[in-house]
Amino acid sequence: MKARTLRELVEHDVDLAARTTLALPARAALYARIKSVAHLAKLGGHGTRRRFILGGGSNLVMRSDFDGLMLHIAITGRRLIGEDGDAWYVRAGAGENWHDLVTWTLAQGWPGLENLALIPGTVGAAPIQNIGAYGLELSERFHSLEAIDLPSGKTLRLDRQACRFAYRSSLFKEEGWHLDGQRVITWVTFRLPKAWSAQTAYADLADELDRQAIARPTGQQIAEAVVAIRRRKLPDPALLPNAGSFFHNPIVDAAFAERLAAAHPRLPRYVQADGRVKLAAAWLIEQSGWKGRCLGRVGMYEKQALVLVNHGGATGSEVIALATAVQAAVRERFAIELTPEPVIL
Ligand code: NAP
Repeated sequence: MKARTLRELVEHDVDLAARTTLALPARAALYARIKSVAHLAKLGGHGTRRRFILGGGSNLVMRSDFDGLMLHIAITGRRLIGEDGDAWYVRAGAGENWHDLVTWTLAQGWPGLENLALIPGTVGAAPIQNIGAYGLELSERFHSLEAIDLPSGKTLRLDRQACRFAYRSSLFKEEGWHLDGQRVITWVTFRLPKAWSAQTAYADLADELDRQAIARPTGQQIAEAVVAIRRRKLPDPALLPNAGSFFHNPIVDAAFAERLAAAHPRLPRYVQADGRVKLAAAWLIEQSGWKGRCLGRVGMYEKQALVLVNHGGATGSEVIALATAVQAAVRERFAIELTPEPVIL
């Protein structure tokens, strides 16, 4: 398709409430839906206004109106681009819905992404925080990606090592690609190994498969189990607006975790490869009295304390007030600083 002119691409004064899963009232001064790399090349270094890259809008808190250009990345397409004795290589556009990609690869007979089923958001956003769930991280299935540097118009190609993936982090997160609006991920290639094995160590997943009496699950069955768990535990943004997990799971040093466990014997602890210890933010919030509790029109979800929900008509300030209150409660009880996961704009 021929790229349209810049003037045709950019809309003015656009309502963002329906474009973000927390549904907070906010407007963008300028908004462009970008369907191809050619569209991006047209935008190039145009204008000096602030920019923000919008994917699925599932990890974003709009505190107020955005007085800049919101670039909604809607580049779609997915296909097998190669295969060797070890793996299938699948390339997908940054605007593809993440869960649709997971479902489609499984339907093709290429397992590997099943533990990451039903994570909200787009393919292009997935590498930024190295999405992970039920014992699998995107980095384990990642091959490479393409991005465009808007001011120079240059295409960047990054392999797995260059992306510096870490727990819910990456080069993109470290360098603030998701904040500066200058560098845009356009296509991502996944490597799905043919020597597949089920990853079912997480208790929730193992319990669900047990409940269904599945001893040797396929990728498809794992995806279905993950979907069932998530549907039970997490609110559907179409019915109860939310931005998924609102805080990172804190990682603390071993000595601190031990002291904390002495005072709180039921504290869930997960030792990391580097010896530090990951704690469950949901548990800390629940123990601090915030599970299912509201402040104004927002609250921490009754079935999963890590999810901040908008009960209807809330504003960005109410979200910040609740997040601040939860942080203060966890700090007071556990001396731990929770950090928000979504971008607060
Ligand atoms: P959960 O299963 O209740 O787990 C709570 C915490 O315990 C998480 O920190 C989890 O680590 C950890 N954990 C549980 N079993 C573990 C094990 N066997 N080994 C190591 N760590 C273990 O969490 P949830 O809130 O209901 O979420 C379910 C899954 O979806 C989690 O894996 C969560 O991280 C993931 N998730 C990912 C995203 C994202 O990537 N954007 C958003 C929402 C939820 P992990 O967090 O490391 O798994």
